[in-house]
Order: sequence, then structure tokens, then C-alpha cells
Amino acid sequence: GWTYAPAPESAAIADVKDRYLPFVDGAFVEGRGDDFATYNPGTAETLATVSQSTTDDVDTAVAAARRAYDEVWGPMSGAERGRYLFRIARGLAERARELAVLECLDNGKPIRETRDFDVPTAAQHFFYHAGWADKLQHLGLGQAPRPLGVAAQVIPWNFPLLMAAWKIAPALAAGNTVVIKPAETTPLSVLVLAEVMADAGLPPGVVNVVTGAGDIGSALVNHAGVDKVAFTGSTAVGREIQRSLAGTGRRLTLELGGKGANIVFDDAALDQAVEGIVNGIFFNAGQVCCAGSRLLVQEPVAEELLAKLEARAQTLRIGDPLDKNTDVGAINSPTQKAKIDELVGSGADEGAQVWRSSCPVPERGWYVAPTIITGTAGSMRVVREEIFGPVLTVETFRTPDEAVAKANNTPYGLSAGVWTEKGSRAMAMAGALKVGVVWDNTFNRFDPAASFGGYGESGFGREGGRAGMAAYLEDAS
Ligand code: NAD
Repeated sequence: GWTYAPAPESAAIADVKDRYLPFVDGAFVEGRGDDFATYNPGTAETLATVSQSTTDDVDTAVAAARRAYDEVWGPMSGAERGRYLFRIARGLAERARELAVLECLDNGKPIRETRDFDVPTAAQHFFYHAGWADKLQHLGLGQAPRPLGVAAQVIPWNFPLLMAAWKIAPALAAGNTVVIKPAETTPLSVLVLAEVMADAGLPPGVVNVVTGAGDIGSALVNHAGVDKVAFTGSTAVGREIQRSLAGTGRRLTLELGGKGANIVFDDAALDQAVEGIVNGIFFNAGQVCCAGSRLLVQEPVAEELLAKLEARAQTLRIGDPLDKNTDVGAINSPTQKAKIDELVGSGADEGAQVWRSSCPVPERGWYVAPTIITGTAGSMRVVREEIFGPVLTVETFRTPDEAVAKANNTPYGLSAGVWTEKGSRAMAMAGALKVGVVWDNTFNRFDPAASFGGYGESGFGREGGRAGMAAYLEDAS
């Protein structure tokens, strides 16, 4: 076991380097593109510069991954691969404090979240998958299934380190090698993870990190030397990748957007539900694919619940992500903030009522105060489109059937929450909701042993657990 790192202080900002390099074939090497900057969303200041990969660098990285797969990682025994994964997990735990600060600065999420969630959960993913490496025969139809080869992985900015762990750990446990591209606004923690992997003695080429924006992501996923593509991000880009890979025979998993419903019945423990709703939509300022962004509340308790919810949301502290007391940090980029503001504006224009916390918001940096939108109709953009911000819409329902119909009335299907004291009702709802995960009297709980993934426009394929391992193997069940 391991304990959480002590709360970081601002002094640890010194851990941030001025400039970061891509990691290819076991070394940090200059990219052949122009440097780009990454910003601290909490202050809107430049945090560091990053050397950018080009499509030639993607070629080099894929070739290194192929060589490492053929010569080292593919032939290695599962038990030995597992030892590397354990070492990476321990390395993450040892550098937890530094990584928590770095993730907080690069992403804008509160230090309490990076310290208590992002970093420990990333380490857990490596610990968990280390255990699979020598047990692959349990996934096989006969003998141990074979890995796929070189995996191309593209990840978003909302959980940079954790999404890297979700992608890299199962790929390596199964015996694949990896080229991964972090989002252009949050590359730093993944580059420190590369350092952790190098320090763990991971052979050169087994994991490569290329840097840059969508053009580099596109070059990577479309590279002819790649056997498997795993993408997490927007539904629009996921669709584009699916189209461009059609007919190539390459394996693909997509983890896309969501519009999760948090459904509160009149018998629910309301105070507990309020905490779950707050966690569901204000955790990481709602920049979460499985956020509980639509509250569906049964009519008899709607007024009472809403009053409790607004009172609770009013107590949330918005501000400096590095402050241990901050509940809601910054929005990752000005583009994302503009998208959130535009959508909230559309709700007001379409006649909904917009409630906003009056907690003061810092003048510098990109912030959105917790927002609750009532008086909505199912046709409004705020109810239909993924906002990816601290914005909750509220609808009411009378019967369980109506709740199911409203919850399922979205092209997405990633998550839902059900709040009721009746176990039979919770079970019936779980069966009727067309989503990958249903939380019962809780929300946003994750475990590496539990598979996570979507229906419909939320994507396909599962990450975590047995199904997540099968996604990186041939002939696995
Ligand atoms: P995005 O899909 O544009 O970016 C995600 C990743 O894909 C980044 O690493 C990006 O560089 C890369 N990318 C962009 N275009 C690509 C392409 N054509 N081929 C390959 N890779 C490409 O997402 P975004 O612009 O960062 O966010 C836009 C919206 O996506 C958000 O507002 C939100 O609704 C949604 N989103 C969802 C998730 C999620 O976890 N499901 C995460 C981030 C964003």
C-alpha cells in the first residue's frame, strides 16, 4: 500500500521545467516542429514551452514501437512485463506530490482533486494491470491470447495523467507497445510519466510520447504501422477517426462525449443526493465525459431538492487551483470557457432560468461559476449538447418510465446516477438506462477493475477490467 502525499504548497511550482521534449525510443529528443506553449488556466500565464513533434517524428516513434514490440516487449514473459508495470506504479506513487502540482498547474483542476484522485488513481491502474500481465491465459479461448502489436493512443485534456494510465497500462500488460499523444493544452504530466517509465527501466521504444495538436494525432492514428487505435475526446473527432480507419482492419476503441442524467426519486436521501449531484457536475468543473450534467428530479421533491442544491452550490469555493480549499478550479482553456459561456447564453435566450453561484471568481484565469439551469425543455441546446463545464440542467418527471424516457433521450450513453432507497427500483433503472455505467446512490466512482465505456455517440469498447484487457488482445474473451 501507499499513503497520499502531503498537501503540496506553492513552493513546489519550482518543479515545473521551462521546456519539455517528446519521448521517443527511450530518450527525450527535440521535436522537429516549432515549440508551443502550455498555460496555467488558473492565471492565464505561460507555464512551459514544449518541443513539438512532426509527422516525421511520428514515423520515428512508430518505428521504435514496432522494433520494441518485435524484439523486446512481445517476446517477454508476462511475469517480467508485470514487474515493469509494478515499478511504474511505485514510481508514480513516489512522485505523487510533484505530479499533483504539475497536473493542477497545467490543467487548472483543484490540487485536492489531483492529489486525492488523478494521481493515486493513475498509480492504481498500473498496479491493477500489472496483475493481469502474467494471467492472460484466463482471457484466452485456448492458449494465452496474443497482443495486437503497436497501439496508437490519443487522449484529451480533462484527465491528462489518468487517461494516459488508462490507455498505457492495459496495452503494456497485454504485450503491446505504445505511441501516445497527449492533448496540446496538457502535455506535461504525461511527459513526467515518461520519465517515471524510463526510471523504471522500461526498454526503449515500448512507450513513446509525441507532442502537438490534432494534426499530429491524425498522423498517428492513420499511420500504416499501427495495429490498434484508442481515442478519448470529442464525438466529432471520434467520428472522423472512425471514418478514416474504415476498411483498414485496425482495431479501434472510442471514448467520446456524454450527457449523463442524475435521476432523483422522491424516496431518495435528499442530502446525500445533493452531495452526489454536486460531485457529478462540479468535480473537475464539469469537464468530465461522464459528468451528471442533467438532473432529473421527481416532481414531489423537486422544489425542496433544488433549494438544497443551490444552497450547497453557493458554498463551493471557486478559485486558485493550487489552494487546498478550492472546490472548483479553472476551465482548461479560453476556447472551452467560450464554448461553455455560449451554451449557457443559448439557454437564457431560449427562455430557461439561469442560476449562478455568487462566489467571487478570480479576475485572471479562465473560470466559470457553478451554474444551474431550470425551466428547461428537452429541445433546448443546453439539454441536448455536451457543455463540458460546471453547468447543470434541471428537468422534472412523474413516473419511473418518464425518467427513463427522458434520460435515454440523447444520442449519448455513457453514465447515469440513480438516487432511491428502493433496491428493486435501482436495479430496474440500471437495466432500462442505455448507458455504460449506472451509479446507485453515488456518482463519479471509478475502479480499474470495473469496465468503463459508452453506448451510441459516447463511443464503443471498454476500458478497465477484463473487457479493457480484451481490447488489447487477439482471440480474447
Ligand atoms: P478533441 O477531440 O478535439 O481533442 C482530443 C484529443 O484529440 C487531443 O489530443 C487532440 O489533439 C486530438 N485530436 C484533435 N483532432 C484530431 C484528429 N483529427 N485526429 C486525431 N486526433 C485529434 O477535443 P477538445 O477540442 O479538446 O474538446 C472538445 C470537446 O470534446 C469538449 O468540449 C468536450 O465536449 C469533448 N471532450 C470529451 C472528452 C471525453 O473525455 N469524452 C474529453 C475532452 C473533450
